[in-house]
Amino acid sequence: MGFFDVHAHLTDKRLAAMESDVLDRARAAGVTTIISNGLNPLDNQRVADLAARAPDLVKPAFGLYPVDAVLADMLAMGVEYQRDDEPVPDPDESVQWVADHVDEAFAVGEIGLDHYWVPAELWDQQEAIFRRLVRIAMDADKPIIIHTRKAEKRTLDVLLDMGATRVNWHCFGSKVKLAQRIAAAGHWMSIPANARRSESFTKMLRVLPREKILLETDCPYLGPDKGELNEPMNIARTAAYAAELWETDIDGVKAQLESNFHDLFRCRP
Ligand SMILES: [Zn+2]
Repeated sequence: MGFFDVHAHLTDKRLAAMESDVLDRARAAGVTTIISNGLNPLDNQRVADLAARAPDLVKPAFGLYPVDAVLADMLAMGVEYQRDDEPVPDPDESVQWVADHVDEAFAVGEIGLDHYWVPAELWDQQEAIFRRLVRIAMDADKPIIIHTRKAEKRTLDVLLDMGATRVNWHCFGSKVKLAQRIAAAGHWMSIPANARRSESFTKMLRVLPREKILLETDCPYLGPDKGELNEPMNIARTAAYAAELWETDIDGVKAQLESNFHDLFRCRP
């Protein structure tokens, strides 16, 4: 049995610069599967290339980050948004990229709704793009990895309306009560590597049905120690924390997580 990181950004420049070390450290920590999530066509292509270099360990998720989905319009409106000096994605081309490559994807993600960065004038447009991506995933029978911020209820409404069942919510930031509703609806939740210093993720580990829990790092963000660059190897630390909270041993945690992974992704890590 191994560990798996269902939401990582290995193509982030800081991690990509030391790719083989990051992957070696993950292997040494017992990580057997890392789902690297793409943000836009350029990043999706990097994810595909990386997965081809390390097919035993890295599985590709292709998506369109909810801010990138409407970034061109945000910038045209004069909204301030900090990002790398890279081309601004074209929404239609970005959706088409996912449609063209969905068969090679392990999952579709990250996709979703973001009402934190995106102004209200663009919410409908963002949702229309999200719905197209959910449809592409469902038609190809691929699991979906959700990013949402300040739009959790609306995201759930869209997914339930469309009948999406194979869904993992990454780094859920709203009320634990809503997380429980989402788990009761049959979706999964991945808990990030900063769980030990987060009251909300600690509570989620305690109260969510254990069969609906997965682990992620969201690396390079959200490390176990503040300000430290996060890596997939840190999954082992969250698993150790889950073992404490669940009053079981690490093998018990591994067995539970492996079974959950199989239920959502329909394959053994
Ligand atoms: Zn992410």
